[in-house]
Amino acid sequence: MSFSIFGLSDEIIRAVTECGYTDPTPIQLQAIPAVLTGSDLMAGAQTGTGKTAGFTLPILHRLSDKSVKGPSSGRPPIRALILVPTRELAAQVEESIRVYGKYLKLSSMTMIGGVNINPQINRLKSRVDILVATPGRLLDHVQQETLDLSHVEILVLDEADRMLDMGFIRDIKKILVLLPRQRQNLLFSATFSDEIRALAGSLLNQPALIEV
Ligand code: AMP
Repeated sequence: MSFSIFGLSDEIIRAVTECGYTDPTPIQLQAIPAVLTGSDLMAGAQTGTGKTAGFTLPILHRLSDKSVKGPSSGRPPIRALILVPTRELAAQVEESIRVYGKYLKLSSMTMIGGVNINPQINRLKSRVDILVATPGRLLDHVQQETLDLSHVEILVLDEADRMLDMGFIRDIKKILVLLPRQRQNLLFSATFSDEIRALAGSLLNQPALIEV
């Protein structure tokens, strides 16, 4: 079963082919069509299953799809926000976006703590379509009023269980209220505790459910 079944753009297929991927993984087979429809998603997936491509490929497709209405005027806003628990994961996810999106005209940025905030503030002055962030530093930017999340169309919580284990639930809740009500929400988690289910219940609207 090749990647051509999903209707992803030629630019994305070319990049995926160059990665040497021939067949989608089980999570990709389920997640990619679900995300492409625009529906919310709750996915149970461990690291190493190919989950990153499972959400980044359809997000890249949706954001570059000319038939989907984007911003009309002014500086282009941040359109996708991917929240992750660690700096390392932020770097990995953004690298995937760069690789899979190399033939698209979309721009991404990582926003992580432990580094000087000023280069991030400067970077935000130019176009960022996809922001990959850890919650604490993102809120630092919110406090400094250097970040506008009011046009986010797609939110991803990656490794949501780890984010909760690391005590990020309050930060996540503070971030959620900054986003438009109308948006697509994707939640990935390796485990499903009561706390995760409660978060999913409050966040997701009739989600597609995937467990691999
Ligand atoms: P992830 O679970 O997203 O961390 O991905 C684990 C690894 O699988 C990464 O190194 C990806 O480059 C690789 N990968 C993702 N999708 C595929 C695929 N369809 N075929 C082969 N390798 C893949």
